[in-house]
Amino acid sequence: MKKTLVSIVIPVFDEAENVGLLHEEIIAAIKDRAEEYEIIFVDDGSADDSLAVLKKIRAGDPRVKIIHLRKNFGQSAAISAGFAYCRGEVVITMDADLQNDPADIPLLVDRVREGFDIVNGWRRDRHDKWLTRRVPSFFGNKLISWITGVKLHDYGCTLRGFRSDVVKNLKLYGEMHRYIPAIASRMGIRSTEVAVNHRSRQFGRSKYGLSRTFRVVLDLISIKFLLAYSHRPLQVFGGAGLLMILTGVFSGMYLTYTKFVLNQGIANRPLLFFTLLMVFLGFQAISLGLLAEMLSRIYHEGLDKNEYSIRELIGFENENIDDRPRTLF
Ligand code: UDP
Ligand code: MG
Repeated sequence: MKKTLVSIVIPVFDEAENVGLLHEEIIAAIKDRAEEYEIIFVDDGSADDSLAVLKKIRAGDPRVKIIHLRKNFGQSAAISAGFAYCRGEVVITMDADLQNDPADIPLLVDRVREGFDIVNGWRRDRHDKWLTRRVPSFFGNKLISWITGVKLHDYGCTLRGFRSDVVKNLKLYGEMHRYIPAIASRMGIRSTEVAVNHRSRQFGRSKYGLSRTFRVVLDLISIKFLLAYSHRPLQVFGGAGLLMILTGVFSGMYLTYTKFVLNQGIANRPLLFFTLLMVFLGFQAISLGLLAEMLSRIYHEGLDKNEYSIRELIGFENENIDDRPRTLF
């Protein structure tokens, strides 16, 4: 019988001291497993010697593959490069900094094989800074769960398991890897959460600061829009636009009545400016909505664009790789 293949996708940005240990821990975690494994490290333009270390690891373990990106494209882009080139029926994502524990991998694989499309890690006992990480993340998780309607304890945990068709149908933009469970909910997926181990960072440093909070919130706005209205943007803009025009028409009628029936001047009335503003803004909103409708048609046609650019693929020699040229933006 053919063995199930599991792909482990790991974005790496300046993690030279971590990747060796990480590889050892992964090997220890999977050595008694029935599945076959491929470990895909995506070097996201590291400036340290992560790449050299990765090549050394690969020399001793042919299951290791390396995608070397031309520059630092960010964690989401690195993960999507991994998604594009992985072949496993089960796909695991995790950080390279040893904060996620490879010992949890078998648990995630089992849950996916049981029939879940996404298995989300939940760092129940988190080892990160309190003020800059745990507090924003507490409120962040509540807010994201409420707005997207997909309730999770830990959106920030990158240790996750997927069925491959989920990751093959995803396009990640910006900082979107965090929102994969919410985005994928649109496909009607079955997901679950499992508590996973979390450790503090020993080597290297975190690539993010408090400013990430703002990007996370902005991404949330676009996620909400894309999830709820990307097929019908006119209903957002058009609704507001119609309401404004209607308000403008009523106040305009009242002004007309004042001028021609009551014979009072209206040039100095604030209501006149309000009326003009409402009518103008209303038409603007509706035309914006119509433009958005047209854009969304194009968007859903599926622009074949990548968010990353690859310098070198190592370890993919015997695979049919779809290397159609794609534009970056
Ligand atoms: N990472 C990446 N590209 C980036 C930033 C981060 O590939 O531009 C990787 C990083 O090497 C690590 C993971 O993404 O494997 C998570 O990053 P980090 O540990 O800095 O985030 P934190 O745990 O502090 O949220
Ligand atoms: Mg980390």
